[in-house]
Amino acid sequence: MDTSVTRVDLSDLALRGGERWERSFRIEMAPIILGGQSCEVLIPDGVTVAVDRVAGGFLVEVSVRASLCGPCERCLREAAIEVEAKEQEFVPTTKAGWDESELSPFIEDQVVDVSALGREAVVLALPSQVVCAEECRGLCQVCGQDLNVGQCDCPAETAEERWTALRDIHLEDQPPST
Ligand SMILES: [Zn+2]
Ligand SMILES: [Zn+2]
Repeated sequence: MDTSVTRVDLSDLALRGGERWERSFRIEMAPIILGGQSCEVLIPDGVTVAVDRVAGGFLVEVSVRASLCGPCERCLREAAIEVEAKEQEFVPTTKAGWDESELSPFIEDQVVDVSALGREAVVLALPSQVVCAEECRGLCQVCGQDLNVGQCDCPAETAEERWTALRDIHLEDQPPST
């Protein structure tokens, strides 16, 4: 896999108004930290970059399909995540009149860092909650048993009762309000 070329110099493309350029790049993406764990990222089709020459600059679009593994938030087992990420950035021909904060930090002097832009797109597309399956039953809050494997012997109400007891103790500790 050739991972040496991951930059596109927009001025080298010699695009004229209305013209489009597109290419896919094989990229190895560094692991992403998810739920406190380092998750390996696989990009089977690479990162596709499309550039449109528009009035005043370029429209750069990266699209990437990534699959990664992260810990399920309910049972902590490894869960597979698939994301379709797409990000569009406008790159002005001249920076005059533009605020740096409005422009992508991964496109400098009209050179696109495909690897960094693709990675940002994947991170932004990640789900806020990772679960191994919608119907995952998680772990018992009392004994830690994986309820997907089997039911434990803990009474169902125990966890709830414990919290109620803790809350009552906590309230009694408070100085009386006047
Ligand atoms: Zn799970
Ligand atoms: Zn239990």
